[in-house]
Amino acid sequence: MKIYVDFDDCICETAKHFSKLVAELFDKDVPYEKINFFNLQKSFVLTDEEYKYMMMEAHKPESLLSYEETVGATKTINEWINCGHDVSIITGRPFSAYEPSREWLDNKGLKDAKLYCLDKYGRHSYSTDSDFSLKLEDYLKMNFDVAIEDSPAAFKFFNHLPMLKVMVYNRPWNKECEFPNKNYKRCFDWEMIEKNVNKG
Ligand SMILES: [Mg+2]
Repeated sequence: MKIYVDFDDCICETAKHFSKLVAELFDKDVPYEKINFFNLQKSFVLTDEEYKYMMMEAHKPESLLSYEETVGATKTINEWINCGHDVSIITGRPFSAYEPSREWLDNKGLKDAKLYCLDKYGRHSYSTDSDFSLKLEDYLKMNFDVAIEDSPAAFKFFNHLPMLKVMVYNRPWNKECEFPNKNYKRCFDWEMIEKNVNKG
């Protein structure tokens, strides 16, 4: 099987980190459970400047390296790799975050999972020529059987794969979301993802 795995809020607890960060930077109290929009500027009610500053802080290597792992992610992904499945972690993080993101994966024991940066949300200010900085046209040539994703804003990247099974990691910002088709399934943890993927 070819498996697409998103990074933030699928294999690590990014939003929880952001919740702490806005408290530190702007003295705002928005707990994780209240992050109702994938758009963090909207969820945290930030000005353009505040949002830019927060994103800059969040993408510093020491910050990226401190994100907590989502329980069970490493174990499941490594089991898939050991069974011969092809796992690609496809993140919307900018390519400038590639090295610390790679280091985080390696530290967590995910050395064999491939990592690619794809501009999912129009956030990348420039494109970089690297095998790991995916252009949309190259991403669209890749094929997947299963995807793990939390962001409704990324579902459009699955439109070209009508047979794809999409495991939507349950998060506050996708609770109200309607799924595009019956191949989408809400999953509450990695155990549930693993069960659903293994039963095919
Ligand atoms: Mg995500």
